[in-house]
Amino acid sequence: MHPILPGATIGVLGSGQLGRMLGLVARRMGYHIATLSPEENSPLGRIADLEVVAPYDDLDAVRAFAKKVAVVTFEFENVSAAAAAAAAQFAPVRPRGAVLHACQHRLREKSFLSEGGFPVAPFRIVRSLDELRAAAAVIGLPAVLKTAGFGYDGKGQVKIFSDGELEPAWKNLGAPEAVLEQFVRFTGEVSVVAARGLDGSFAHHGVVRNEHVNHILDLTVSPAGLPPALAARAVELARAIFEKLDLVGVLAVELFLSESGELIVNELAPRPHNSGHFTIEACPASQFEQQLRAVCGLPLGDAAPRSPAAMAQLLGDLWADGEPDWPAALALPGVALHLYGKTEARAGRKMGHLTALAESPEKAVETVLAARRRLSRAG
Ligand code: AMP
Repeated sequence: MHPILPGATIGVLGSGQLGRMLGLVARRMGYHIATLSPEENSPLGRIADLEVVAPYDDLDAVRAFAKKVAVVTFEFENVSAAAAAAAAQFAPVRPRGAVLHACQHRLREKSFLSEGGFPVAPFRIVRSLDELRAAAAVIGLPAVLKTAGFGYDGKGQVKIFSDGELEPAWKNLGAPEAVLEQFVRFTGEVSVVAARGLDGSFAHHGVVRNEHVNHILDLTVSPAGLPPALAARAVELARAIFEKLDLVGVLAVELFLSESGELIVNELAPRPHNSGHFTIEACPASQFEQQLRAVCGLPLGDAAPRSPAAMAQLLGDLWADGEPDWPAALALPGVALHLYGKTEARAGRKMGHLTALAESPEKAVETVLAARRRLSRAG
């Protein structure tokens, strides 16, 4: 199959920061970039050659969009199977719709993983309060109740400690279908971001350690500093998941490191991921360049990090006391600023991130956190 060459137009369903960072790479490499999403003046739309504003379930708009581009990819996974199929009538869709379908629904994702023999926390599907009680009796408490359908950044999930919390938890969740999952006592959360080409080649950016605050990724450290055998096992798990999904593009595998030293897969994201943002500065080919290369059928680039790095997310809360103090943060050597071009800074909204490279992961964390503190005028 012929690769899609510079000069062609890459079509992205979605228009947020992940699409924007892909778009910036596409531009550098001589491609055009187009986006379809319901949002106007979006992070990607502001730098794209073409911004189509339409809901994803407007299948005529999706078809018309696919006719204008050489390939269709995604920057988030909440696009219906019908939209992916409509696009596929006129352009290759990478990763293919079936991958999105599996990853956008917790129950399908967990079933795929457990049927494939991948390690996941024990879970049960729950469709009523009675089923929830029965599931809790089998799985034990504490447990986490999560909506089966789309949820991200911890939305649609609640931790349950005691039997008395089962009924209010079920009522508050307000979803017809949910997954009850054993609470994993973990010593850390790690992820592997990697890419797979059309020819089946595979390249990864190593294993990174992630810290969440209020369920939102706050800090990523590369490398994670796992014992080599464990890091190799995490990468092998990712590689096997790519193969099983027959995925062309980028995928992030989020894992828990349990107290007993096991790796447990928490979640899959079939696209670039927050925890891979550090690759822009730290790797010859970033996760976004790998996505572009993979969906265009080009050889994958060199994904191996060249330097320890840390990434700190910038949320809208930072703007509470006015414009953050950018010069103060940028005065620290080795710090890079990324802002996503969002006009309104709401609390909890991802507005940008900082990355620091340093001679050690510890130093990178120290620098990136110092830079973020400097941004805050209140602090
Ligand atoms: P998720 O939306 O499933 O990625 O979950 C968001 C965060 O909630 C994770 O990064 C964990 O910090 C926490 N979490 C989710 N599921 C579990 C679990 N089964 N056990 C312990 N912590 C969990």
